Amino acid sequence: MSTLLLSHPACLEHLVPHGHPERPDRLRAVERALEAEKFQTLAREQAPMAPLEIVALCHPMDYIVALRDASPAEGLIQIDGDTSMSPGTFEAALRAAGGGIRAVDEVLGKRAANAFVATRPPGHHAETAKPMGFCLFDNAGIAARYAQNRHGIARAAIVDFDVHHGNGSQEIFWADKTVMYCSTHQMPLFPGTGAVIESGEYNTVVNAPLRPGDGADKFRDAFENRILPRLAEFQPELIIISAGFDAHYRDPLANLNLVEEDFAWATQKIMDVADRCAGGRIVSMLEGGYNLSALGRSTVAHVQALTGQ
Ligand SMILES: [Zn+2]
Repeated sequence: MSTLLLSHPACLEHLVPHGHPERPDRLRAVERALEAEKFQTLAREQAPMAPLEIVALCHPMDYIVALRDASPAEGLIQIDGDTSMSPGTFEAALRAAGGGIRAVDEVLGKRAANAFVATRPPGHHAETAKPMGFCLFDNAGIAARYAQNRHGIARAAIVDFDVHHGNGSQEIFWADKTVMYCSTHQMPLFPGTGAVIESGEYNTVVNAPLRPGDGADKFRDAFENRILPRLAEFQPELIIISAGFDAHYRDPLANLNLVEEDFAWATQKIMDVADRCAGGRIVSMLEGGYNLSALGRSTVAHVQALTGQ
């Protein structure tokens, strides 16, 4: 079984204001990086649009419908301080969620070893009924709930190494003891949540904040001493990675000092836990990463680890 790569050209049609960091070129950089010879063994599929009732596993239907109805016929509309919609945004958002759903089907159906979903807009800042921080739907959260609802997975975990805290994933699963949410992130930084004491109603939220300037040592410490032990203890049957690459030292939105090897290392560590308790089942979903060359190289390191190279 090989690693499955899911993407869709419609995700390039989510247009943003000039100079906005979460831009279509990010996805082009990721796709270009994955054209390399060593990725010829990847299985590739187009991300389908998520059915609205599946998106509704994490978001109220009236929120979803309001976003659909807000879609502009032309130009851009602002739906949050730094989140906007263009005519192609709603479809892109459904495909970003749908990529995760398809990945769950393929990985849990044992047709793929694991999967990487290269789509945009990202998802981990979207709260139950609130778009935020470039995100409309919590793609990783929807994948987790879908795995539980349609495949009978009892416990799923989301591991989020994006440099920003995934306030949306935390909020959605705050009082859900069947989904663990673990995050390394810079603090202080947008969105301001993610302190260690934020641990959820059932102690299934695991936050490991890092300080501006921290690099590989502190990042690896946070994984080895806080996240991985809790993850292993939780015994998830599926691990979803919120794979943001904006903790890279070249990223313009934050001040951590990781390099691509650190993402490969974290990926391998997560795979080790997945091998022990989840039959190796991992679905990884692209979140942030705003320096195009760092994003491309970090994606290569991450996907290479997923393929076992
Ligand atoms: Zn981010």
